[in-house]
Amino acid sequence: MRASDGIAQDAHIIEQGKYAMAVNECCVVQLDREAPAVKVSFMEYRWHLADADRVAYQAEQLRKKLGQYRQKRTSAELIVAMATECMLAYRRVEEAGWLSRIEPSWEHDCEHCIFLGPMQREEGDKRADGVRRMVPQRTDLFYCPENKPYPTVVARFGATERDIYRGLLPGLGGLNADLYEAARRAKSMGLLDGIQLPPLTVLDNGTGGMSD
Ligand SMILES: [Zn+2]
Repeated sequence: MRASDGIAQDAHIIEQGKYAMAVNECCVVQLDREAPAVKVSFMEYRWHLADADRVAYQAEQLRKKLGQYRQKRTSAELIVAMATECMLAYRRVEEAGWLSRIEPSWEHDCEHCIFLGPMQREEGDKRADGVRRMVPQRTDLFYCPENKPYPTVVARFGATERDIYRGLLPGLGGLNADLYEAARRAKSMGLLDGIQLPPLTVLDNGTGGMSD
């Protein structure tokens, strides 16, 4: 889907089961095509609040404006229009200096990945004197709707091919703290709605192991 103006082209369109979503750096506008119903989630982890009160007021104005869209017929074009409305509001607030956008720390080469904001974690750093210190490590979190065979979440903590974790099940299952946080954010914004999950494998923690 393409919109006629340059701004709306910044929105990703994701189709997952009965859901269609328009996603940009400001929001996820999700359409449940069966209901039909529209849900808007703001990308709070991608923005730094410089003036929380002013932003809260502007967010309320934006909600009202988006609420008026809901009165109209729901369609895929509608969610793109709503995502664009959202982006224009964010840009105005950004220009006023009340919000600033957070960019990824590391270069990431997948054009489909949706940045979910950074997270800080502690990393053991063995220095020349042999003493291990904990230093803050910034990790960029993403949701990749185009990953095959299933969509996934991604955590990038460095610039090389090895500095990355990926996997939706480890994230949802809490097996990896970074992926867990990425999955939590993606889920809270509705980005995981409608996806077909891979079949779960039950891990055998007993002593018997595999037998046939
Ligand atoms: Zn990706």
